[in-house]
Amino acid sequence: MFHDEHAPLALLVELTPKLAKRRFRESIYEFWDYKCAYCEDVATSLDHIIPRFKSGSSNRNNLIPACRRCNSNKGSIAVDEWYQQQEFFTQVKMERIKAWMSQEVVDIFSYPLHELKPAV
Ligand SMILES: [Zn+2]
Repeated sequence: MFHDEHAPLALLVELTPKLAKRRFRESIYEFWDYKCAYCEDVATSLDHIIPRFKSGSSNRNNLIPACRRCNSNKGSIAVDEWYQQQEFFTQVKMERIKAWMSQEVVDIFSYPLHELKPAV
């Protein structure tokens, strides 16, 4: 009679990390309006601003939406250095990216960040 008592809970426990991860990623895309943070093309992935192999984290402040071109193009070059060489570079966008990076948010449940608004 109570065999299924824990079934919904088990399901929830299983789904939550996946959902949380999806929402976490989604919240980053949303914040940047689904555009590449560098060139404003359609974002197709989240770029590690500081690459993982350079000890860049997967925290919110190191992940930024990017189009395929920017993401693969940037490679291991430091973001400032790479970005300033691009024809779509603007100081405003660079400041926005830096503001994003300076957010010391490590908790994936602490979205959305109402306090940080992208510069226009
Ligand atoms: Zn781009």
